[in-house]
Amino acid sequence: MSFAADTKNEMCKSVPQRSCCRRAECYGLLLFGRGFSRSSVCMVTENASVAHQVAQLAAQVAGVIVDLRSSFSRKKENHNTFSVFVEGDDQRERLLSVFGHEAGEMNLRIHKQNFLCPDCLAAFFARCIFVLRHGNRSKQGVSSGVCCAL
Ligand SMILES: [Zn+2]
Repeated sequence: MSFAADTKNEMCKSVPQRSCCRRAECYGLLLFGRGFSRSSVCMVTENASVAHQVAQLAAQVAGVIVDLRSSFSRKKENHNTFSVFVEGDDQRERLLSVFGHEAGEMNLRIHKQNFLCPDCLAAFFARCIFVLRHGNRSKQGVSSGVCCAL
């Protein structure tokens, strides 16, 4: 297993203690995922621990129904891919509103009200950015158009 995969697994074992930090982590993982809008809330990863954590956090934080799917690709060196989806407009709208976003937003901006303590920022940036970017072949977040100016 690679260093990045080992690190992701370790990070997933240590869920933030405070509810505000778990919420911030969930926000980051979904915001920088493949989709964060009324038409799609989706996060894709090659790491099962990350996928399970995102699904669990989204269900706990937003109270939405989360689907977790896995697929196996022989073309991509026999890698598993895990996709976390929130299906249904009503469920996606509920999730967006929990984080202060509206269904019709054209440009996503990070909402500061999702960070209630200094550790929230660490949960959001340090954990999420590493989990989603480091060693990730599917380049989640690159095309999401999220504005990172706080
Ligand atoms: Zn916090």
